[in-house]
Amino acid sequence: MSVTHLDSLEKIVSLSKSRGFIFQSSEIYGGLSAVYDYGPLGVELKRNIQGEWWKAMTQVHDNIVGVDAAIFMHPKVWEASGHVEGFNDPMIDDKQSKKRYRADMLIEQHILKIRNKGDDNKADELQHLLNTTGTRKGLCEDLYDIIISEEIKSPDSGAFDWTEVRQFNLMFKTHYGAVTKDEDDVIYLRPETAQGIFVNYKNVLDTSRVQIPFGIAQIGKAFRNEVVARQFVFRMREFEQMEMQYFVEPGTDEAEYEKWLETRIAWHKKLGIRGENLRVSPHPEDKLAHYARAAADIQYKYPIGWQEVEGIHNRTDFDLSRHTEYSGKKMEYFDQKNQKRYTPYVIETSVGLDRTTLMVLCDAYREEEVEGESRTVLKMHPKLAPTKAGIFPLIKKPELQELARKIENSLREDFKVMYDEAGSIGKRYRRQDEAGTPFCITVDFEGLEDNTVTIRYRDDMKQDRVAVDQVAAVIQEGLKTWQA
Ligand code: ATP
Repeated sequence: MSVTHLDSLEKIVSLSKSRGFIFQSSEIYGGLSAVYDYGPLGVELKRNIQGEWWKAMTQVHDNIVGVDAAIFMHPKVWEASGHVEGFNDPMIDDKQSKKRYRADMLIEQHILKIRNKGDDNKADELQHLLNTTGTRKGLCEDLYDIIISEEIKSPDSGAFDWTEVRQFNLMFKTHYGAVTKDEDDVIYLRPETAQGIFVNYKNVLDTSRVQIPFGIAQIGKAFRNEVVARQFVFRMREFEQMEMQYFVEPGTDEAEYEKWLETRIAWHKKLGIRGENLRVSPHPEDKLAHYARAAADIQYKYPIGWQEVEGIHNRTDFDLSRHTEYSGKKMEYFDQKNQKRYTPYVIETSVGLDRTTLMVLCDAYREEEVEGESRTVLKMHPKLAPTKAGIFPLIKKPELQELARKIENSLREDFKVMYDEAGSIGKRYRRQDEAGTPFCITVDFEGLEDNTVTIRYRDDMKQDRVAVDQVAAVIQEGLKTWQA
């Protein structure tokens, strides 16, 4: 059997559309760029991933609780968090094509090209210049100088005709209430879910009997007016985050940071992602965000290259201190046992649900040639698969249909299953392969005699004959024991 792994993002984009995983938003009107809708298979996959994360946080840990905060928050929140002032990306426009780019990303791509040509010294020198932008003339000016002195051309038009570099705030603004429309009514769509956790820190502490160390987890939408957003669900303007803020005693933060980094990599592997496609990329000290003492990205090898899927950050007491300052409400913790009072440090784990969904699709994708026939198959962990089993009568005969429907109904309570009688059995297998369905159950005439069915396994296409009353147990076992 010959196997080909994923070599381009386009294949996932096209499978997502043809099989109903992910569609362009408002497609009948020409689409809305960087916004996507999940179809029937996509929403099941996304919810399964969400369920795994929620369980790994709030069920497996007895000291992590959940919240579901509103998307709209008091505007002062974003002043305290630093987003109004500093949540900017440096952008530059190609005057000829009118396309907009992130200035730092243009330089990153340029460095990559130089490195690929083998000139590591030059690449290192430029990387250092990029890491220290803002220390010479100012961020925008430093980036502009590099682009001009390196003669970096526009990737789409090839022109070297740039505007200045300008800062662009990524928050979406709107007006709150119906009466007036002045600056006082400005409200933001949250650019991250984390602040909904910080502003509820005291509520949770006062009502949940949690003691430090403890975590608060949240899953929800976030909105960023990204400058460059041309990479499918990797970079969207409306996306979903799964964030957990872990409140710890200062001094224990470094050990907790290391522990969470390890815990989170293990989670990705437990989802079935192959270890060789995951890596940790620590942020160099001179690139750390102003509030962070340490930070690392968990990266996945997407077809567009190694890219961040999750960030782990030691945020110190920055957020709680700033909210104390801006709200006037103390955010301290009183350690009764040791009679100590302090503002906790926070270790943050922040993973994008859409980037995780894309990672699962990319990692699962295979094109296989088997005895002259080819198939596309998504070999994802069965616990994530949108449909657990396809149930087929071999042909459209009432007695076969009746038993197949009976089996379908007996499984429905416990598993998401799908009855299918359209087309040849081979076609039906291929449809389920492309949807990542791990088991296909076929009812044939032999089975009518002895109350058995065949189970065909997605990964190796082997088939077993199994008693009808054993089908649920076989599926259950497969969900538990699967390995990448
Ligand atoms: P990047 O450097 O790729 O822009 P970031 O460092 O700004 O990402 P964080 O602010 O750390 O990202 O957000 C945490 C997670 O949220 C990211 O690891 C990513 O999975 C997800 N995320 C951030 N921005 C987007 C986006 N525009 N579209 C989809 N997911 C996103």
